[in-house]
Amino acid sequence: MTPLAPGSTLGILGGGQLGRVSQGQIVAPYDDLNALGVLGQTSQAVTFEFENVPATSVERLVRGGAVVAPGPKALAVAQDRVDEKTFLNGVGATTVDFAAVDSLDDLLNGIERLGLPALLKTRRDGYDGKGQVWVRSAAMAADAWHAIGERPAILEARADFTRELSVIAARGRDGAIAVYPLGENIHKGGVLKTTLAPAAVDAKTDKRARAIAKSVLEGLDYVGVLGVELFDLGDSRLLVNEIAPRVHNTGHWTQDGCVCDQFEQHIRAIAGWPLGPTTAHARVEMTNLLGDEVDQWTKLSSKDDARLHLYGKAEARPGRKMGHVNRVKPLI
Ligand code: AMP
Repeated sequence: MTPLAPGSTLGILGGGQLGRVSQGQIVAPYDDLNALGVLGQTSQAVTFEFENVPATSVERLVRGGAVVAPGPKALAVAQDRVDEKTFLNGVGATTVDFAAVDSLDDLLNGIERLGLPALLKTRRDGYDGKGQVWVRSAAMAADAWHAIGERPAILEARADFTRELSVIAARGRDGAIAVYPLGENIHKGGVLKTTLAPAAVDAKTDKRARAIAKSVLEGLDYVGVLGVELFDLGDSRLLVNEIAPRVHNTGHWTQDGCVCDQFEQHIRAIAGWPLGPTTAHARVEMTNLLGDEVDQWTKLSSKDDARLHLYGKAEARPGRKMGHVNRVKPLI
């Protein structure tokens, strides 16, 4: 693809905080054919900021001649936890052991094979720890199956990790790959609270994370920015938790830590531009502002090291991502 000239139109499916760069909006259900038609015809390239957009809408855009990146394969893999883990292990990006669960019997067999505790997650539509329940005894199985709505699910062996890391990487239309330094992530109640980046990692862990990112990007023939969540088992061993086919919350530190942040990188990739530099010029501690924590903006705005990013959401529901603050520190 010839690089899109400045002034071209890029379409984004999804209207959350990750797509806030837009200058115009089409407000319609994801499966509104007219709206999809308008988006496809107006945009020189289309992307998405949310992996649970219906795959059929993306296929529709592609069939209508739109250039969509990342493509339908990346979306399909990221939408289903069993397909995702099967794909990941197939490209050498190892995950925890798992079992597909379609019935209480499957769950009991899975418990037998994987041991306890194990984590039962819905196959689809889960995010930020939603649709997940720990199973600690076989006696809990029926309740757990009920708690996730008796929907197609996955049972995951517990990852015995020392910490959670992530790597944000991009692949351009020419196949070039750029990888940012790793982030170390702290979750609370299944939701990301803080990312510290660049994370203090040994050379082997760094190399392994980069190799994982490369296998995933190439295995999906991916174009755009991808987030890969990792469990660090110590001894430089990493397991992949999940992938996100989009800019990622654990990559927000790049806004104030890198010359080319993940948002620009994604736009560069889908517009067919060369990828930008990924080296860090600062160390950043990114903290999500959840719910009414956003009210701290007055205090935060007076701190010398704090760069405040607010999403402009009207209602501060508990746990809702309302903004984030990047605390910028010297590189060590
Ligand atoms: P997820 O929605 O799959 O990213 O899970 C949210 C969080 O739950 C992760 O960031 C981990 O802290 C934890 N978690 C998920 N899967 C596992 C697992 N198999 N073993 C241990 N902890 C997990």
